[in-house]
Amino acid sequence: MKAINGGTKAVCLIGDPVEHSFSPIIHNYGFKNLNINAIYINHRVENSNLKSAMEGIKALGYLGCNVTYPHKIEVMKFLDDLSQEAKLIGAVNTIRNDNGKLTGYNTDGLGFVTGLLRKGINLNGKKICILGAGGAAKSIAVALAIHFDCIITICNRSMEKAMEIIDTINNIQETPSSQHHYITSDEIDTYSMDVLINCTPVGMVPNIDNIPYEDKIIFHKDLIVSDIIYQPFETALLKKAKLANCTIHHGIDMLIDQGILAFEIWTGEKLDFEEIKELLVERIYGE
Ligand code: NAP
Repeated sequence: MKAINGGTKAVCLIGDPVEHSFSPIIHNYGFKNLNINAIYINHRVENSNLKSAMEGIKALGYLGCNVTYPHKIEVMKFLDDLSQEAKLIGAVNTIRNDNGKLTGYNTDGLGFVTGLLRKGINLNGKKICILGAGGAAKSIAVALAIHFDCIITICNRSMEKAMEIIDTINNIQETPSSQHHYITSDEIDTYSMDVLINCTPVGMVPNIDNIPYEDKIIFHKDLIVSDIIYQPFETALLKKAKLANCTIHHGIDMLIDQGILAFEIWTGEKLDFEEIKELLVERIYGE
């Protein structure tokens, strides 16, 4: 940000808790670097104050905000419009304020996809296996199904959550299909897969030696392996995939790309991925 003055605009993160968030690092760097007179701050907002917080975004003329746990679903009630992705995912992580009209977006899935495209990976025709069926898995599955002609399988402990995502993505095309499907862990067959994405918290600090469904995953050099966990920087899953010469995709990339998309929604400007990555890697991992 520039020095705060009478014309400074604000953007914020709304959640509870918010102290752990790296978003202020990304966005304040962007404002400063692009000479935009704006500031990004975190606001802890309790459930009972969510409606007032949304009214505050309008009344105070914020450019918009990010939304995190526990408000990503509940906040939709207070918005005027939703992007296609946010509607299908049923959760919002970014809001733009246009003179009092609030539009909700979800940049998580598209952020993920952007990282694979940057590596030159064409996702059309790919067989993609997602491990986990939580909020992140849904965002990614929806973005993949909207933007690519790919075949998605989801493996999750609870079948209900996976089936809810499968039903959503099978209904994205005008003619509902059954090309995407649920699999049990016994049905994981990475040999017939092109892309494997870990959307479970297995392998996250402090349990950094853990690998989801370890005995079911066989690495082959043509498998693209992605882990959306960003602490540690490189999970045990990714380390093993790297040893098998797989193409790998780190969780930190998704974190950065979803932020870059949010920044663009508020300002119309694109941040440089490599610059942000250098900054965040140093701040998060001290490298
Ligand atoms: P979530 O909504 O809580 O979903 C977690 C999913 O993982 C659930 O489907 C759950 O299965 C499954 N799971 C949990 N423990 C498991 C275990 N021991 N074995 C197998 N499956 C297990 O979480 P989320 O918001 O989707 O986030 C998932 C992970 O992604 C977290 O580590 C989070 O930090 C990371 N993330 C990263 C980014 C990024 O920008 N890089 C963004 C969002 C999230 P059940 O349904 O059977 O319980």
